[in-house]
Amino acid sequence: MQPDEEEINEIPPKKNPPPNKPLLIILCVFIGLAILLCAGIIFLKKQPQKPNSSTSVNASQSTNVVSQPLVIASSQPVPTPEPPPAPVIPKEEWYMALVNSDTPLPDGFDPATSPLGAGYHFDERAIDSLKSLLAAAEAENVKLKLVSGYRSFARQKTLYNAELTALKRAGKTNEEAEQEAQFTVQKDGESEHNLGLAADILAQNFQRKVAEFEETLEFKWLTENAAKYGFILRYPKDKTDITGVEYKPWHFRYVGEEQARLITDSGLCLEEYLAP
Ligand code: ZN
Repeated sequence: MQPDEEEINEIPPKKNPPPNKPLLIILCVFIGLAILLCAGIIFLKKQPQKPNSSTSVNASQSTNVVSQPLVIASSQPVPTPEPPPAPVIPKEEWYMALVNSDTPLPDGFDPATSPLGAGYHFDERAIDSLKSLLAAAEAENVKLKLVSGYRSFARQKTLYNAELTALKRAGKTNEEAEQEAQFTVQKDGESEHNLGLAADILAQNFQRKVAEFEETLEFKWLTENAAKYGFILRYPKDKTDITGVEYKPWHFRYVGEEQARLITDSGLCLEEYLAP
């Protein structure tokens, strides 16, 4: 087998092909391209990335930078926007009159009233609003019951004295009875009923002047609708220390539709609303 081995050994040098030049060129080009590609990727990764969170800041900064020269360059002064004017409270109007123990009505005050039926009267300038309120409730099958309107000074005095007597009989001292009667009934000239713009409204199936009236559907209707007809809940539960009057969920006061809406929305009692 020697010859064969020799033959085999000798074959490679003989058959060794000449270097394939085109293949080498293509290989070099590929390697070159690969190096370029890697370099490109590395270069792109090294580029600083803009964080998203700073985009708005950069935007606003650039806006400021742009807007400032514009302001300086302008010869016209930039007008400062005026705040909207505060609504004027018509304190001097008849329907805004404040009546309480600090600001009683003058002696002999006698408003022009009109009859409401069932012996009740109301200021003739506001009586249509009260009638509209009562009619609206009726139309919605809400059974309200008017139990008081305008009262003369004499009538108020009678009510106040009757309360004083009852309190004294219950064991209160003169001073205690007067304080309590002032809180619940008010003296003549110090009650809004003397003004002719207050109405006590209960329900046909609930005719007691007690705080529990607030739990009725009729009271709910009144709180939701009274302002539409110009009435406010005059003696709220959380304002007794300011009004000096007990919580009266039945006592509604006419102040006109616009003011009723503003006062109701404000959450203030009339004393606070009219405070200088
Ligand atoms: Zn009342």
